[in-house]
Amino acid sequence: MKALIIDNSRSYAMQLASILKNNAIEVDVCSCVQEAIEKWAREDYEFVCTSLELNEGTGLELASRLREMKPDATTSIYLITSNKDVYRNRSWIDSGITDAFYKSDIERFNMELHSLAKLQVKKTNSGKVLYVEDGRAESMRIIMILENMGLQVVHFDNAEAAWDNFLVQGDYELVITDLLLSGLMTGLSLVRCIRSVNENTEINESWVPILGVSGFDDVSRRVDLYNAGIDDYVAKPIIETEFMARVFNLLSMKKLFTKVAVQQSELEKHASIDLLTGCLNRRNFLTIAEKYISQARRDKYFMSLFYLDLDYFKKINDTYGHAEGDTVLSQLGSLLKSYCREADIVSRFGGEEFVLLFPKCDADAAYSFADKLLIKIRQLRDDELKITASIGVSVFDPNITMDIDTLINLADEVLMQAKKEGRNKVVLNSKNELPIIGKLKDTG
Ligand code: GH3
Ligand code: MG
Ligand code: MG
Ligand code: MG
Repeated sequence: MKALIIDNSRSYAMQLASILKNNAIEVDVCSCVQEAIEKWAREDYEFVCTSLELNEGTGLELASRLREMKPDATTSIYLITSNKDVYRNRSWIDSGITDAFYKSDIERFNMELHSLAKLQVKKTNSGKVLYVEDGRAESMRIIMILENMGLQVVHFDNAEAAWDNFLVQGDYELVITDLLLSGLMTGLSLVRCIRSVNENTEINESWVPILGVSGFDDVSRRVDLYNAGIDDYVAKPIIETEFMARVFNLLSMKKLFTKVAVQQSELEKHASIDLLTGCLNRRNFLTIAEKYISQARRDKYFMSLFYLDLDYFKKINDTYGHAEGDTVLSQLGSLLKSYCREADIVSRFGGEEFVLLFPKCDADAAYSFADKLLIKIRQLRDDELKITASIGVSVFDPNITMDIDTLINLADEVLMQAKKEGRNKVVLNSKNELPIIGKLKDTG
């Protein structure tokens, strides 16, 4: 990035130059109009800084001359003045000055420079852009701009191919599409298709910003595009700096969205797991269990639910302290999880109570599992701590309509029975009067 400074007071020019250099901007300094014009003719500058009084004229005259010489240049021309009247009456606007700064207000100028320097950073982007444009010359120009920004461009001249590619690839940082395209599908339909798979109101990692481009610059078309789901719009002919600024903003938006989505899923994960035991919490267990029930009903298989409650846990706390009680709970959590298959779910239902749901597990399998588990729980500690638990088991029969609450209540009922019958015991609920449960009734 290169700047041109024209100032007849050498010391002020040097001061400005040092600010610019601090912003990683290269500087050419000159003191008279003629020299500035010669430099301007030879070189391209990202911006120009001029003071008001110059050796052979004014900064305003110089700005008009520079604009005349390169009418298409997007260079910013800044006026630095200590003349309050000129600064306030804004007569500088007509001479093609981009912005004026009061000489003592160097701080504001510095801020402006920082944002200009950020433009430079824009060239260090990364990521993939899906670009849809049928005009050959236009697409070549835009691809070059995007690639100069550090972006990888995947280009199509029709929306059908772009859409097919989007469905397969999908991992784009940005989509840029023209409105009118060769092929039957318009840019507008492409925008609708993309938004049908990722809404721009929903925060998720796969969301992609869309920049609409069109030769039409009428309001109604732009509104159509915004309604279809674009996030920003540029009119043709595309002005490079404006285009780059919009692309940069959308890429920042995408980065922010991704960051929020990642944080959100982290939060959800933390909110669904009980920190002490590493098991699911009650709320999350119930949500998943409901899905399990519908699936078991649809695919017709048995499931078993275990309601486990530690025996005399209050006494453990009272004797060994709450912290030791916590350790026991944490150890039990690890034990339960180590026993489960991929599809099994384990939750800390509250306090010293755990609920487990095993798909494709009938009463027979459930009883033998629970019985073995009681042994493992008794072996949980090798010190003097005597840990035992009681377990109530209920079985989901796909032929009988039953919801998760009923299944839990059935298990809880027999858990109470196990407690009454002396604890350290498994009891199976036989209320469903399934032959297999009847058989096991007495062994509970
Ligand atoms: P029972 O055999 O009838 O189940 O007796 P119990 O003492 O286990 O049952 P009770 O419901 O009377 O007491 C449960 C105890 O569990 C009381 C409570 O302080 C303790 N508890 C609940 N949550 C925690 C926890 O997170 N950490 C610790 N250390 N103790 C807990
Ligand atoms: Mg309890
Ligand atoms: Mg209890
Ligand atoms: Mg208990």
